[in-house]
Amino acid sequence: MSSPEIDLEADALFMGEAMKQALRAYQAGEVPVGAVIVRNGRVVAKAYNQVELLKDATAHAEMLALTMAEEATGDWRLNGCTLYVTKEPCPMCAGAIVHCRLDRVVFAAADAKGGAAGSAMNLLQFPTLNHRCEITSGVRGQECADILRAFFAERRAAKQSGSAPDNAGEQGTASPEDPAVN
Ligand SMILES: [Zn+2]
Repeated sequence: MSSPEIDLEADALFMGEAMKQALRAYQAGEVPVGAVIVRNGRVVAKAYNQVELLKDATAHAEMLALTMAEEATGDWRLNGCTLYVTKEPCPMCAGAIVHCRLDRVVFAAADAKGGAAGSAMNLLQFPTLNHRCEITSGVRGQECADILRAFFAERRAAKQSGSAPDNAGEQGTASPEDPAVN
C-alpha cells in the first residue's frame, strides 16, 4: 500500500488529466466535463463530454470513458479501476459506474442539484445495489468548478448577444452555479 500523501498526489495528478479532457470539451463548445479511468497507476481511458458532437444525451465523459476502459481491458468488470471526473457524476453515469463495478470514484466539482455521488443522491453507495464504490470528492474542485462557471458565463453572454446556438442538451441537468449567487 502506498502512503496517503502519495495517493493525494496521484489523485491531483490524474484529476489534472481529466481537466485536460474538460478543456478539450470546452474548446469544442461542449459542457466542459472530462474523465479518465486508471488501473494500476496507468490511464486506460480518457474522454470528454460529446453530447453535442454525437447528438447523444448519453455521451457524457464518464460513459465514453467506461466503454473505452472496457475495450482496453477486455472486460466489462472494471474492478481495480478508479474513475476521475471533473464534475460529480449524474444518476445515469453513477448507475453505469456501479454496473461496471469500479473500485473508486474521484470527482472535483460537486453538483448540488444533480450529483449522484452524495450531493443530491448517492447511487454509488446505494445499500441494496450489488456494488458500492469508494468516493473521494473535491479533488481540484475549485479549478474544475471555475472551468464550468467560465463556460456557462461565456455561453450566457453569447446568448444575450444572439450569436450562440441554443444548446438544449447539456452534461448534467443544471448549471452547477446558482445564477442568484453569480
Ligand atoms: Zn453523466
